[in-house]
Amino acid sequence: MSYRNILPGSTIGILGGGQLGRMMALAGKAMGYRFVTLDPSENCSCSQVADDHIITEYKDAKGANQLASKSQVITYEFENVDAEIVENLEKLSYVPQGSLLLKITQNRIMEKRIMQSFGLPIAPFEIINRDPFEMVNVDPTSHMKLVATSSVTRMEAILMKAIDTLGMPLIMKTATGGYDGKGQWIIRNERDYFTASQVFSQPEYANIDFIVEKFIDFEREISVVVARSSRGDIEAFPVAENKHVNNILHMSIVPARIPTSAQEKAKEIASDIAEQLDVVGVLAIEMFYQADGNIYINELAPRPHNSGHYTMDACETSQFEQHIRAICNLPLGNTTLLTPVVMVNLLGQHIQPFMELLPELPKQVKFHLYGKQGIVHNRKMGHINVVAEDVEQALTIIKTKLAFIENLL
Ligand code: ADP
Ligand code: MG
Repeated sequence: MSYRNILPGSTIGILGGGQLGRMMALAGKAMGYRFVTLDPSENCSCSQVADDHIITEYKDAKGANQLASKSQVITYEFENVDAEIVENLEKLSYVPQGSLLLKITQNRIMEKRIMQSFGLPIAPFEIINRDPFEMVNVDPTSHMKLVATSSVTRMEAILMKAIDTLGMPLIMKTATGGYDGKGQWIIRNERDYFTASQVFSQPEYANIDFIVEKFIDFEREISVVVARSSRGDIEAFPVAENKHVNNILHMSIVPARIPTSAQEKAKEIASDIAEQLDVVGVLAIEMFYQADGNIYINELAPRPHNSGHYTMDACETSQFEQHIRAICNLPLGNTTLLTPVVMVNLLGQHIQPFMELLPELPKQVKFHLYGKQGIVHNRKMGHINVVAEDVEQALTIIKTKLAFIENLL
């Protein structure tokens, strides 16, 4: 692909109108870009700050054409956007992120296989696919024969074998469509095996493949957001230490409380992936850190990431500005951490108590709200970045001045 310089004054099209698009647009507008978003909801987070909004389903080809005709460059803000639509947009417009990275990160099997082929550290895994046909050796002296098998029985057998070869505990995940822990089953014993194997015949999972991987006994969950520009420059942001509650990111602590050497290693892994995958834009890599220094790659997201929101108040360049710089072929910004920081997500249930406390909150509490209308339990409504002299101080502020957050998880 030939890369273009996209200069301020140009229009950036965003597929998806959530908070990530909104924060991209806020950063890009500060640099003089215009934005058009495509999202089915009329008053979505991004449309509130974009110059123009196409209200239609992500799958609508006509809408996609409209987006292409209005934009000089197109980006996406979530990875469950139809890869075919993006592929089509690549023909109509300029999509420097491309559709391939999207396809890879939409499918855990593909993602794992690629990481494996790069020789990068991942949890040992087995693939449980739904292929209804199998090559069987009908006669050792003659040929293999294609026979129909019961895919469910076959999948159960693969899972059973994985338990033997990998050993429990394991975690089984749908290859596609999972997020925030949805489509996952932990297998610690025989009963869990039965629960997990029943999933194969449930209509909800018809046509879905699975992956089963070794459960990693990690000390910390960490992530790195890395950017690569179309000219090939790469910059990794500092490592975030992430805490999840109910499988939703609750908190990111930066700098991560792991040795400096491990932080460097995590950033090297992230940069290596960005380079090998020819990424353009930002890519987030979730990893597990073990006490003995081992790092495993968990999963990739081809976009700005919740665990990179701390960069908005704590880094010289935010992940959103960096993404815009990367896709527009501008020099990447410096990723230096200017202050220790703890990011905490504000969910639906937090909004009212947060508003009540806001006028009295200490000045170290920076906040970002996404303009979402419906207050729904566990829905991401905004986040705070608590900047302090060290992360312990930031954590103390959260514990003492914002105790309601933990109490309402
Ligand atoms: P999602 O798309 O839902 O974020 P993940 O693969 O990141 O899916 O899994 C969600 C969470 O489950 C992770 O953040 C981690 O806490 C836990 N998890 C996932 N895979 C493993 C594993 N192999 N070992 C230990 N914990 C895991
Ligand atoms: Mg994850």
